[in-house]
Amino acid sequence: MRHLRRVTSPTAPTPVGDAVRVQFADAFAHAADTPPSLSSRPRRSDGRSRRTGASDRAPTATGRGAVVTAPIDVAWLGHATVDLRLAGRRFLTDPVLRDRLAHLRRLDGTGNLDPGPIDAVLYSHLHHDHLDVPSLRRLGAAELVVVPRGAGRLVARHTRADVVEVRPDDELTIGDVHVRVIPADHTGGRTFRRVAGPPLGYLFEAPDATVYFPGDTDLHPVMGELPAPDLALLPIWGWGPQLGPGHLDPHRAAEAARLLRARAVLPVHWGTFAPVTTRRQAAWVHAPADAFAGAAAEVAPDTRLHVVRPGPARLLLPAG
Ligand SMILES: [Zn+2]
Repeated sequence: MRHLRRVTSPTAPTPVGDAVRVQFADAFAHAADTPPSLSSRPRRSDGRSRRTGASDRAPTATGRGAVVTAPIDVAWLGHATVDLRLAGRRFLTDPVLRDRLAHLRRLDGTGNLDPGPIDAVLYSHLHHDHLDVPSLRRLGAAELVVVPRGAGRLVARHTRADVVEVRPDDELTIGDVHVRVIPADHTGGRTFRRVAGPPLGYLFEAPDATVYFPGDTDLHPVMGELPAPDLALLPIWGWGPQLGPGHLDPHRAAEAARLLRARAVLPVHWGTFAPVTTRRQAAWVHAPADAFAGAAAEVAPDTRLHVVRPGPARLLLPAG
């Protein structure tokens, strides 16, 4: 792991049992208000995060404006962009926060979002539909940016946040959340640039929930070795009518759910971007979700599915 800027935040206790006020129409109205801190934390010998009193929090889902708490608070903002809140920390994966991306357009036109304060932005790899520099520049309130090793210099030019380069098997601790860097089966270079870095996934281990974000990947043996996640944010498609190598299609994503023993899956990386020539209702745009649900029912029947359209609506999920 290489820090491009020294990260010196002292350890701050994460408020346990802090209530979150939810507005289902606006994911960003109540951003995390606790500063991030990086620290070393003892880990259990079985690799699971040590549980604390945070596990006392019971998930509650009530109506608009209600005060609720849940171990996993997540919004799929589209493509691989996930707003994940665990143990009082807020994470954003592969932020693409705009409606046009080269030859791609966002199908629902809701990409122009201001995410507000973020404890850590994490990039899985350097492809333009994952590491989007204009979106990065918009993240002025991010504290830390985590990138594949080799991309730090590229990213540091566009952010005031601390930047840390990681590679598989590195580990970070942010508040009470332990983040493990996981290998992926995908190409990692940046198109038209000589910048390269390994494709990565991230395993977030909070005291009361574990969430796996694989980035872009095909099936990978590591999926059978990780602790069973409470939630897997599995990619199930791409941005065009065909899928290139190094991706999960709906059937392989279902197999990934089985390998992972995932307790729940929120499918991502589908139905968000398409070439500008694509009709919004083209069959392939929305078909992956149905195909995944059907395949998962066959091969991973114990896995709960949370199939949602991309957008800022937040899901409050239990662990286990
Ligand atoms: Zn990619």
